[in-house]
Amino acid sequence: MNILSNKEGTLDWLREKKLITLERSCPVCDDDMRLTETRDRYDGLKWTCKKRKGVDRHSKECSIRKDSWFENSNLSLPETVKFTYWWCMGISQKLIIQQLQLSDHTSVDWAMFCREVCLESLNNQQNQLGGPGKFVEIDECKIGKRKYNRGHIVEGQWVFGGIERDSRRSFLFAVEDRSEKTLLRLILQRIAPETTIISDCWKSYSNLSKHGYQHETVNHSVEFKNANGYHTNTIEGHWRHLKASLPQYSRKKEHYESYLAEFLYRYQHTDEEMFLSFIDDVAKMYNKTL
Ligand SMILES: [Zn+2]
Repeated sequence: MNILSNKEGTLDWLREKKLITLERSCPVCDDDMRLTETRDRYDGLKWTCKKRKGVDRHSKECSIRKDSWFENSNLSLPETVKFTYWWCMGISQKLIIQQLQLSDHTSVDWAMFCREVCLESLNNQQNQLGGPGKFVEIDECKIGKRKYNRGHIVEGQWVFGGIERDSRRSFLFAVEDRSEKTLLRLILQRIAPETTIISDCWKSYSNLSKHGYQHETVNHSVEFKNANGYHTNTIEGHWRHLKASLPQYSRKKEHYESYLAEFLYRYQHTDEEMFLSFIDDVAKMYNKTL
């Protein structure tokens, strides 16, 4: 993290990673603006254009954060990078808040921005899992159903997932129900024809072989593996990890998608390369406007 030892180092790195634009043209005269040092701003630099002569004389300035991922951040640039790096490494929010001396509110906001990057990145992955000779385990799982004292039950959220064997390719969707109509639509969309799909005996899966898939079922009430040796251990392990990774408090329904996206994103990336992949995805999201 040498890049954070001084402001110039941080800025050079952010520009190299295309998180902050390298050039900006003046909204008045369209000439290139200049990066100018400033004492009155947190970032130490701003874009300026000053034309002192003639009828079109003007003076314009603009934050180096404009149109970037940092535009809505209350944190300094090094703090933002540190937060993001630690978040990617899976450091707890509590520790990050302590280290950076943030308010809970700021931390919750920035973590949400991070999850949105995961969500956007996964939404752009429209490729299908499986194909001839490949195996995909599918399953559905209810998450967050809890019984509190006095028998009060909080309804959970159904999640449908698929995971390709021998790769880290996978999908997860928060679904309203687990009817055939709901699940089949997602299966057809995200699993390639001729894939061998392995599932439990839930009735919504009973017509998969009519839709161009090989289908193997495991009846969990009597067996761990079916007669041909197929099992769904991979996706069941996935559910255990997912349940452990979700925050235990105030899990709002509309946030589920982003928590699922965070979980999948972490699953698809190793700790070592997660931060740089994440930074690349941020750059891709914002370079549309940079
Ligand atoms: Zn100008």
